[in-house]
Amino acid sequence: MIVVVIGVLALQGDVREHLAAVDACPGVRAVPVRRPAELAAVDAMVLPGGESTTMSRLLVTFELLEPLRARIAAGMPAYGSCAGMILLATEVLDGRPDQQQLGGLDVVVRRNAFGRQVDSFETDLAIAGIDGGPVRAVFIRAPWVEKTGAEVEILAGVAGPGGGAPHPVAVRQGAVLATAFHPELTGDTRVHALFCEMAREAVAARR
Ligand code: GLN
Repeated sequence: MIVVVIGVLALQGDVREHLAAVDACPGVRAVPVRRPAELAAVDAMVLPGGESTTMSRLLVTFELLEPLRARIAAGMPAYGSCAGMILLATEVLDGRPDQQQLGGLDVVVRRNAFGRQVDSFETDLAIAGIDGGPVRAVFIRAPWVEKTGAEVEILAGVAGPGGGAPHPVAVRQGAVLATAFHPELTGDTRVHALFCEMAREAVAARR
């Protein structure tokens, strides 16, 4: 079996949970990534939930911002949950002015979009491409996607606190996957399994 190595950005956030969820995929090894040399050795990357402004700052300090941008631009599969989704977006609303973007996902996201009233909530979410019924989705000061580019596929949406049309909360563009929620916190590894499959396909296409 091909062993695919998937890195989890380990600067801040819920790294351990993502490492465990990725490790549950057959044929995949999960490794924490803190240094450029570690990044160079992986086939794909997970960007965890946490705080996007802090992670953005640490990416600069650890000299990972440019190499990570370059790998993603070159087609390396990447999956971001919550703060990770914010990092992958090409544009952020309600971010900090000095917040850095990795790019790769042609969307505009709004940080802390669900507002204070519903700071955190959970819901059952049907996700396109994931079989076996809805996924329990945990939202913690989550963003939503405000605008998607032509190549972005919307996999799931949730209405805002005021109701109305659903906002995308799970999206995919080629080898880049992002969720506004935290599947790593529920023990349901189907979202990670989808990403592992994306990474496996990318590696198989390269070999
Ligand atoms: N609100 C956080 C941010 O802006 C994201 C929260 C999370 O990852 N749970 O980065």
